[in-house]
Amino acid sequence: MIVLKFGGTSVGSVESLRSVVEIVRSRMNKAPIVVVSALSKVTDLLYKICEKEESFEDDLKALRLRHHSFIEEYFAESPQTVLQLKSEIDTYVNSITDICIQPEFSYRDRAAVISCGELMSSLIACTALNKGGVPTSRIDARQFMFCNGDPLKSSPDMSMINHHTPALIARHRMLNPDSKVIITQGFICATISGKPAVLGRGGSDYSASIIAWALNADAVEIWTDVNGIRDADPRYVENTHCLPLLSYDQADAIVKAGAKVLHPLTLEPARMRNIPVYVLNTYNPEGEYTLILPEDHKLLK
Ligand code: ADP
Ligand code: ASP
Ligand code: MG
Repeated sequence: MIVLKFGGTSVGSVESLRSVVEIVRSRMNKAPIVVVSALSKVTDLLYKICEKEESFEDDLKALRLRHHSFIEEYFAESPQTVLQLKSEIDTYVNSITDICIQPEFSYRDRAAVISCGELMSSLIACTALNKGGVPTSRIDARQFMFCNGDPLKSSPDMSMINHHTPALIARHRMLNPDSKVIITQGFICATISGKPAVLGRGGSDYSASIIAWALNADAVEIWTDVNGIRDADPRYVENTHCLPLLSYDQADAIVKAGAKVLHPLTLEPARMRNIPVYVLNTYNPEGEYTLILPEDHKLLK
């Protein structure tokens, strides 16, 4: 079993989502759990919507349009699918509107609104996988990703997650015997009593590692828009080099020093069970990548 996480840019364009389908197909025999972020820029827009600025109505329109245009382009050959998905997106956008216009708008409500980014992207990606011949079923991460504390920067409740996730996933597989792949959302979580929350910005990497830990996965693959962890941020520095092999300590030092490529807590769950973490490029799946291994692994000696 492996966990594959696709970030916002990986599910953010029609071309990249096609690549996601091919990557998942190539790993179908490894019982993958796919973790997705919201479409790129959507979480920023949801935070803005929560501010209820003057542009509130336009922001909601932009949110709807971002998903509708994506669906129209991706599923152009299948008008029925376009209609169905657009109506499901409308349901999410309407629920966001309803939550935002309540007179009392708590941090919990904000978390509910912000969670819709991942709920919408996972719906679209699940449909894309099924349409692409990769039988996939969707599971709501809030059924097993339990958390405590600040609704907008929650702490995972590792013991509850460890306790519930394996049985929940096993049951889901039993009830969906034809589906080869399970897709779920990164970043979003819930208290044990079902109150919505999120893990904090960039938290989908952390979700993927937590899921891998809870299921004792063989590997976590973090699919993003760069060829592995580099010796500098390629957004600001030219001619960076891929760091092909790192220990948990080395990678941890890089991300805790601020390299935005991984959420700073990503490596902690994986290292607790010695699970290898790969960082790969959705736009160049055969290109260079980083492999992160336990310090005592023979490849590192
Ligand atoms: P995702 O949407 O896939 O989670 P992010 O934008 O969160 O992607 O992370 C990928 C980005 O991290 C890259 O586009 C890159 O600009 C940035 N980054 C920062 N430091 C590094 C680094 N040392 N190596 C690779 N990428 C880096
Ligand atoms: N969508 C969330 C964010 O933009 C989580 C993630 O991308 O990892 O912060
Ligand atoms: Mg990220």
